[in-house]
Amino acid sequence: MERSILKKIRENLEERRARLGQGLRRLDLEQSELDRVDSQAEMVDIAQSLEQLGRNSSIQEQELRELQAIDRAMAKLATVNYGVCEDCDEPIPEKRLLAVPEARLCARCQSIWEREASRVRTAS
Ligand SMILES: [Zn+2]
Repeated sequence: MERSILKKIRENLEERRARLGQGLRRLDLEQSELDRVDSQAEMVDIAQSLEQLGRNSSIQEQELRELQAIDRAMAKLATVNYGVCEDCDEPIPEKRLLAVPEARLCARCQSIWEREASRVRTAS
């Protein structure tokens, strides 16, 4: 793969990583404020806070997962295995990598995998 493309991909990953890190820190701050909710607070306030807390943790979970995917991609970027589908060992097209730098599968394997996943979901 061309160095200029690798560089673009690394920049993309680093930028998203920094943004996600900031977002997670912000959520942490909000959360610690919610943790300090006054015990004398009205029940409705507590309910609202809990709702907010739940919303935050699902965002946080999603962002953490994305952060992990980015970290994995960055680690892999340093190896020769980057850009190779983990399923069929075919190179992942550069266009796809530029759009989804953390992709571990080529589009074909990804769609097979997604079909499998949705079948498992509907079966259970
Ligand atoms: Zn593949």
